Amino acid sequence: MIGVFGGAFNPIHNGHLLLAEYIREEFKLEKIIFVPAGKPPHKPKEELEATQHRYNMVYKAISSNPFFEISGVEINRACLTYTADTLEELAALNPGKELGFICGADSILNLTTWHNISKIFEFAALIVAGRPNTNEIEFQNMLRWFQDQYHARFLMASTPLIEISSTQIRERLNNGLSTRYMVPDEVFNYIQLHRLY
Ligand code: ATP
Repeated sequence: MIGVFGGAFNPIHNGHLLLAEYIREEFKLEKIIFVPAGKPPHKPKEELEATQHRYNMVYKAISSNPFFEISGVEINRACLTYTADTLEELAALNPGKELGFICGADSILNLTTWHNISKIFEFAALIVAGRPNTNEIEFQNMLRWFQDQYHARFLMASTPLIEISSTQIRERLNNGLSTRYMVPDEVFNYIQLHRLY
């Protein structure tokens, strides 16, 4: 199975990387393809640091891991980008391979708002990592609902809970606080160099 890790990565942080490595190991994934979002419909444009910067930071963050790859399928698409289309494209590029779309439990709670959900489940199983402050009952109900409605396949990862988010990192930078060790050094330096956030 190949892992697909989509996200705004605004910026990528050590939580993303740690989860990816745990999940790669737990599910014996052949590799993980990180897909920085292009123009996701659910995130307002003003909130997203320039696409190229987000892509560059992911590129730098994963470069030392031979099992991690980056894909520009979303950032190279001119129109709004949908996970369903991305998975279809990656499935075509990796014939005969099963895809596992990696996401945090918080993403499951807003999955009903995503475009073409049935297509998402057609092309991938969802590998779900727990996330602090997720309502467990609501989460379990959601999983059941997707299984009933779409025959969704969920793989629950036994990753530790990691309390890091891109929002928190942007807020800390805004307030002049350190984000060292929350992001890889390469990303820390990149943010400083380009005065991001
Ligand atoms: P933001 O705070 O801006 O919403 P984020 O930290 O959630 O950003 P994204 O790039 O939006 O980062 O996340 C991509 C995917 O990684 C999402 O499915 C999200 O749920 C998951 N994710 C991010 N951080 C964590 C974490 N600490 N634990 C579990 N899942 C996470």
